[in-house]
Amino acid sequence: MASKHGKVIIISGPSGAGKSTLVRRLLKNCPLPLQLSISATTRSPRADEQNGVSYHFLSPEEFTSKRDAGEFLECKEVFGQGHWYGTLEKNITHGLESGKWVILEIDVAGAMSVIDRIPDAITIFIHPGSMEELERRLRNRKTDSEDAILRRLNVATEEMSKRHRYAHQVVNNDVAVATDEVSQILQSLENE
Ligand code: 5GP
Repeated sequence: MASKHGKVIIISGPSGAGKSTLVRRLLKNCPLPLQLSISATTRSPRADEQNGVSYHFLSPEEFTSKRDAGEFLECKEVFGQGHWYGTLEKNITHGLESGKWVILEIDVAGAMSVIDRIPDAITIFIHPGSMEELERRLRNRKTDSEDAILRRLNVATEEMSKRHRYAHQVVNNDVAVATDEVSQILQSLENE
């Protein structure tokens, strides 16, 4: 896929590392023409999530039909519980064609698939500081069952072991500082 007009930015990191908050702040504060790719998922919306804003929430049948039609740049079953997540290719192509820097907030497996297709994607791993801190954040969120928390912690351990595959790693102990760091990284790549 040609990315000559805009750029693709992949942001990964364990669930609970604070990626979503960081990305929201980045979209508001970074002077670059950023655009968030809204993923599709079969998981249910959380209380504060709106369809078409956080995700496109799809039924398993709708998701499968898009997958069969080849509409996903990548899609993965995340957390091994039958919840699918995927990046819609048209989100990326439209953004790139209009010169946007399109942010994909996706898991490590999805990131590896995207890098295969778009080798010049900018890759950033958001690190929660420590596993203890990550567990504290997941529990404080009060949105997941104990079972879901334990699954997320297992996946997190696995994801942390792959962080060296990202060009940039940013520790998120303070979201304002981490957002600023990501913004500086992106601005340093503006003329590449
Ligand atoms: P959550 O359910 O907490 O919103 O997200 C769970 C995980 O799914 C996160 O690690 C997130 O990065 C990942 N994810 C969200 N959208 C996508 C996507 O389109 N593709 C892939 N591969 N992972 C995604």
